[in-house]
Amino acid sequence: MTSETTSPGDTQRTVPGPTPAVAACDLDRTLIFSARALGLRVPDAQAPQMLVAEVYHGEPLSFLTAEAGRLLQELAAAAVLVPTTTRTRDQYARVHLPGPPPRYAVCANGGHLLVDGQPDEDWRRQVDAALAAACAPLPVITEHLRKVCDPRWTRKLRIAEDLFCYAVVQRDEMPVGLVAELSMWAETQGWTVSLQGRKLYLVPRPLTKSAAIVEVVQRVGAGRVLAAGDSLLDAELLELADAGVRPAHGELHDQGWNAPHVGVTQSSGVMAGEEIAGWLLDLVR
Ligand SMILES: [Mg+2]
Repeated sequence: MTSETTSPGDTQRTVPGPTPAVAACDLDRTLIFSARALGLRVPDAQAPQMLVAEVYHGEPLSFLTAEAGRLLQELAAAAVLVPTTTRTRDQYARVHLPGPPPRYAVCANGGHLLVDGQPDEDWRRQVDAALAAACAPLPVITEHLRKVCDPRWTRKLRIAEDLFCYAVVQRDEMPVGLVAELSMWAETQGWTVSLQGRKLYLVPRPLTKSAAIVEVVQRVGAGRVLAAGDSLLDAELLELADAGVRPAHGELHDQGWNAPHVGVTQSSGVMAGEEIAGWLLDLVR
């Protein structure tokens, strides 16, 4: 229904609606935080109210502040909010942000595009073709990771979605220089390394969150891309965005990563998550 009237002879015109913005948001340590990553710097009695964003084995695992939850719901109503994560689909399925489930989500660092919760098969075929053409196959990388990961500081080795692999490590017991050495080797294979919390990831260089977000942008006809993220795997997503924000903690922060169009939060930990939700909402408005 339109309130406009047309007289006979008027050419029917389609008045385009405002183009939506896509807000591509990393999850872990950007919007949601494990208990050990909360980083609260106030007395317990002054801690903000928290929402549980993830339950694992029957216990709460990830959290956000109630205020962040409120801001995210407003953001989801004003923009296309796309959770954009390195999590596998199973790991993502445990995450429940406040509000209705997002229409689009990016999992496995761009390896899967979920549409209404279902993986888009066309997208996955495109990803497989891009990887086959551009980098060493997964078994070569997994074998190398197995060799360098000493059982004394390695808790688990995992293959994710037949796309990439990671080790769960005891970070303070890892040899100094291992990440740098591994990164140099990975570079020669067309792969990249990211250390996030207790997880040491090896990810094919062409497997990116930004490629999947470009696909979402095309599908929804978005005019603007906003992004938030904390790790090296988010750097290219932040670079793609028209405007971005990163928390004052995490891998990018530790490396002093900055870009002119990417803001940095004042706070760190779960309070940075709240700031990020508010920052994205301000930009959408
Ligand atoms: Mg993260």
